[in-house]
Amino acid sequence: MKFNSKVIHAGQAPEETSGAVMPPIFQTSTYAQQAPDMHKGYDYARVGNPTRTALEQLIAGIEEADACAAFASGCAAMDALMKMLRPGNHVVASNDLYGGTYRLFTQVFAPFGIEYSFVDMTRTENVEAALRPETKMLWIETPTNPLLNIVDIRALTELAKSRGILTVVDNTFASPYLQQPLLLGADAVLHSTTKYLGGHSDVIGGAVATSHQDILENLRFQVKSTGAVPGPMDCYLTLRGIKTLAVRVERSCENAREVARYLRNHPLVKSVRYPGFEQHPGHEVAKSQMKDFGGMVSFTLKQDDIPSAHTFMQHTKLFTLAESLGGVESLISHPASMTHGSIPADVRHKAGLNDSLIRLSCGIEDAGDLLEDLETAFRALG
Ligand SMILES: *Cc1c(COP(=O)(O)O)cnc(C)c1O
Repeated sequence: MKFNSKVIHAGQAPEETSGAVMPPIFQTSTYAQQAPDMHKGYDYARVGNPTRTALEQLIAGIEEADACAAFASGCAAMDALMKMLRPGNHVVASNDLYGGTYRLFTQVFAPFGIEYSFVDMTRTENVEAALRPETKMLWIETPTNPLLNIVDIRALTELAKSRGILTVVDNTFASPYLQQPLLLGADAVLHSTTKYLGGHSDVIGGAVATSHQDILENLRFQVKSTGAVPGPMDCYLTLRGIKTLAVRVERSCENAREVARYLRNHPLVKSVRYPGFEQHPGHEVAKSQMKDFGGMVSFTLKQDDIPSAHTFMQHTKLFTLAESLGGVESLISHPASMTHGSIPADVRHKAGLNDSLIRLSCGIEDAGDLLEDLETAFRALG
């Protein structure tokens, strides 16, 4: 089955007792057993729920994985992957990571003895130099947030495989419609389904898809033992969201392309970060591992200061000022005062995170309306 059919049909045969075309919301905590430990595959809803199973099969299908484990949030999914490690184990991760990932690594797991190196993963030699005998995992995010750098998944998984190291790709920013890390060599792929998969900014969730039986068993054991599971209603909403993933992401990519071109030609813009531009340092790698360049665009104002960025963001109407991304509605955010506000200014600047850097998540509205909305905000800068 091709991707556009899988999003509608994978894991979603009509329900057996009624023929319901949509997977029902199995709102139950437990299941009747015919005799002790004789049941229809479900004994208690922390361990499993048919609505969750449908979601897991769907995500496994669209990530080309054998199986998937769904979690209550992207952070809960990352937490489970980290708990596969043991004190003294070492992880190499990108230095341009989702803020919540950095917090989980440095403030939750580092005190338990997991060690981390954060490097610029756009250069394979940096990753190689950071490897130690204790390195057990590479943690890749691409495109990165908010700078939209591109990491070569094939090159890094090849390096990791030669050393017996697991590779995990956080595929939240790209979505499986644009990028399928397991086909590029990764061992596990992680999603905050809150973003593109759910797609409507109405549900929090996470998932890990893999074809490694041992990783899967470990994750299922953790689901059962620690219980960070999504409820059936949340699974249903995510399932419903994924049905339109292909058409939504396609439109977001088109809108992002228009927005990026418009910004590049604007006299009040200093620079635009968008992997679809030939001048973007990761353009060739992006072309080789992504179907299109995504719905995210970041840019810096000529007047590169925090007040100008604030003025700009207070004058958009369609681009709503909010954290998160990947929904049908366009969002605007300011990393320096929102997601990355706790990073000291000089450290931020060194990483390329300028004071006026603005991040856009392009939704699926009319492109002309989006450009007009941005133009109104530029006029407010005067
Ligand atoms: C949002 C996000 C997460 C965390 O997911 P939650 O569902 O918010 O817990 C992890 N990685 C990336 C890239 C994200 O954007």
